Parts: sequence; structure tokens; C-alpha cells
Amino acid sequence: SFSLSEFDPELAEAIQSEDLRQRKGLELIASENFTSQAVREVLGSCLTNKYSEGGVGKRYYGGNEFIDQIETLCINRALSLYGLSSDEWGVNVQPYSGSPANFAVYTALLQPHDRIMGLDLPSGGHLTHGFQTAKKKVSATSVYFESLPYIVNPETGLIDYDDMEYRANMFLPKLLIAGGSAYPREWDYRRMRDIADSVGAMLMVDMAHISGLVAGGVADSPFKYADIVTTTTHKSLRGPRSGMIFGKRKYMEAVDSAVFPMLQGGPHNHQIGALAVALKEASQPEFKEYAQSIIRNAIALGEGLKKRGHKLATGGTDNHLLLWDVRPLGLTGAKVDMVLEQVSITANKNSLPGDVSAVNPGGVRLGTSALTTRGLKEADFDKVADFLDQGCRIATQAQQIASLEVETQMASGTSSRKSNKVLLKDF
Ligand code: PLP
Repeated sequence: SFSLSEFDPELAEAIQSEDLRQRKGLELIASENFTSQAVREVLGSCLTNKYSEGGVGKRYYGGNEFIDQIETLCINRALSLYGLSSDEWGVNVQPYSGSPANFAVYTALLQPHDRIMGLDLPSGGHLTHGFQTAKKKVSATSVYFESLPYIVNPETGLIDYDDMEYRANMFLPKLLIAGGSAYPREWDYRRMRDIADSVGAMLMVDMAHISGLVAGGVADSPFKYADIVTTTTHKSLRGPRSGMIFGKRKYMEAVDSAVFPMLQGGPHNHQIGALAVALKEASQPEFKEYAQSIIRNAIALGEGLKKRGHKLATGGTDNHLLLWDVRPLGLTGAKVDMVLEQVSITANKNSLPGDVSAVNPGGVRLGTSALTTRGLKEADFDKVADFLDQGCRIATQAQQIASLEVETQMASGTSSRKSNKVLLKDF
């Protein structure tokens, strides 16, 4: 057998380049993190070779003695990390990732065309919570279920719970979904439980972004109020790419059969083993410190931007992420993103409350989980804010140069609508 670099130097080189890119850049993508060596060891282990359809003790394939042991470890660690009693809660650790986990919940709890209500995508929700536009059912969730989203207040950027209650009373969803991909503030799970109860809905919390913060005790735990909690495992939790579904006991039989045999085949045992390691890591005292520094760093980054004159949606953050509003500078998220990438800072453009176009949003989403893993402290994040500020200035200059160029071309008669558009879009 050959090593990767001997057998496939082309691919080995691409991986090496990606490794270098990750090491030399500043990673501000809020959904990313850097896994430990132990987690990555399991991902590249023999566990990837094994088929084990079914659950612990009831597999459709032979040879699963050790796989059962590994999945049991993972299940027990997941419940224990979030302080859950196995009498009250169960967990399925087989979802391949966050999107399949969410779809498995809908498959388990709903009939086709039942109604769901989650945070709208332009308000910071996730596609899988039912996103659709007037023209298109963008997410499969909106193809199979009827979705009416709730939204944030366009002025404050905060979830409008009164409006949520009003919409829920009108729409009568069967499932109310909390959680999002770009919401920088704490959730009022108690209020959502009350709203769900008042219309007879189940409450699901998708804590994908904040599951590490919940584990570290720096974000409110949703388990007191939710019927179902889903999560990815690779964001603030700092595990492998995977997903989990926690459910009150009475829902677990339906959840388990939605994952297998309804939606998935063989579990990805390398992910489950790696997740077991990540859950052990997250139960150590160091992880609590890590979670605390994520928050301190996010506050420092926010303050660093604000003191340099920048605006943040909701005025700041309670968690690991910030929504930086670049509209007052006459810029778009895409333009700032493009400049930042040129200087090895990765973030992502993001729509903001009140944005007219979701395709060309006015915000940039920033997160501190990954760089906190790299050891950055509050003073470092102030420096990062300085880099972001400089990036913005460059974007503004590039925009001015592009406008001048368009004017010059128009004056000399060499411009066209198309060339103008290209210049102004790309600066
Ligand atoms: N749920 C939320 C809130 C997310 O932010 C994401 C990912 O960004 C997902 C679900 C989907 O996870 P995945 O990309 O692993 O399918």
C-alpha cells in the first residue's frame, strides 16, 4: 500500500495547500472551527470501513461488537455533556450532518404538508427551517411542509416574539423551531415554549451554532423547554462534521426510524467515534474556559469594530457571532468579503435585518470560535477589528476607483452597460 503523497501527489498537494491556507489565514467564519489531533485520528481510522445499519445491539450486519461499544460511548457522553437523564431524554448520533438531522426530525414528527414555523433565512435562520421565496421553494423542507417564518424586527435586529405569537396564532404550526445561523443574541426559549403550547405545537431547538457554548455553560440550555434539540457537531462544539438529535423519550422511536431506515443507510462510524472524542473533550474543564473566551473575544471584536466607527446588527452580541453592517459605508457584504479574502481573512457575506436583496446582502457574519481555538485573546481580537477596518477602507477605495473608471469610459465612449455592471459589481 502506498502513502497518499506516493499514490496521489496531486491530491496530497491540494490538501497540503489547504492546510497551509488554514494555518496562515484568520478564520472568522462563524460555523467553522479547528478539530483536535485526536478527533482527526479517529476520522482517518479503520472505523470508516465498517457497515453497521441499525442501532446498538440490533444491527443488520455482523462484526459490530466494537462499533456498538463506540456508539454507546458517544450516546452516553452526549447525554452526560448536556446533563440529561436517559430516563427522560434519548439521542441519535447517526445523522450525517445538521441538515439530515433536521429533515429526520420533520420526517419523524410531521405528516407531509404539516405546518412549520422557523426563523426566516434573511433574519438569520437556516435553510432547513423551511426557507422559500415568493418564486421558489428553495429548501426541501418547504417542498414537503408548509412554512411560514417568523422574523426579526428590521430596526432592532431582535426576534419579534409578539409578532411570532401573532403569526403562530394565525398559522397554527405543528412545529415551532428555535435556533439560527446568524442570530447574535440569546433565545427566549421559555417564551417560545409558551407560544408553542398556546397553539398545540411541538418545540424544536436547532442549537447547531451554539452547542459548544451550551456545553460550556455560557449560553442558555434549551433542554428545559424543548421537545427536540438538534445540532451539528463541528461548529462551536469543535467536533467532526456530523449531527445529533436529542429527543424526549416519547419521540425517540419515531426519530430513530426516521434516521434509519427512512433517510439514511449505514452510519458513518468514523464520525461517531470522532464525535465521542469531541464530547469527551467538551466535558473537560478546559472546554468551559474555551467557551468563556469565545464570548469574551466576540465582545472584544465587537467593541473593536464599534470604536472604529462600525455598526453591528443588534448593537453587539451574546454569543460567538457578530453581524457587521457595512451598508453605512456604502459597501456590500460581498465586496468586503472579497477584499478580506485577498488578505487571508475568511468571513462570509450575510443578509441583515431590513436588507432588500438576499442575493446581495449588506452584512458580513463574523465568528470567534475558530480563532479562539488558535489561542487568540481579547487584545488580538482588537487587532483583528483593526484589520477588518483596514479591509473596509480598501473596499471603499476600490469602489471609488471602479466608479472613476466607469466615468472615464463613459466620457471616452468606450463603456457599455455590461462593462459598467461588471466593474461596479467587482468594484
Ligand atoms: N442548522 C443550523 C442552525 C446551521 O447553522 C447549519 C449549518 O450551517 C445547519 C443546521 C446544517 O448543518 P450542515 O451544514 O452540517 O448540514
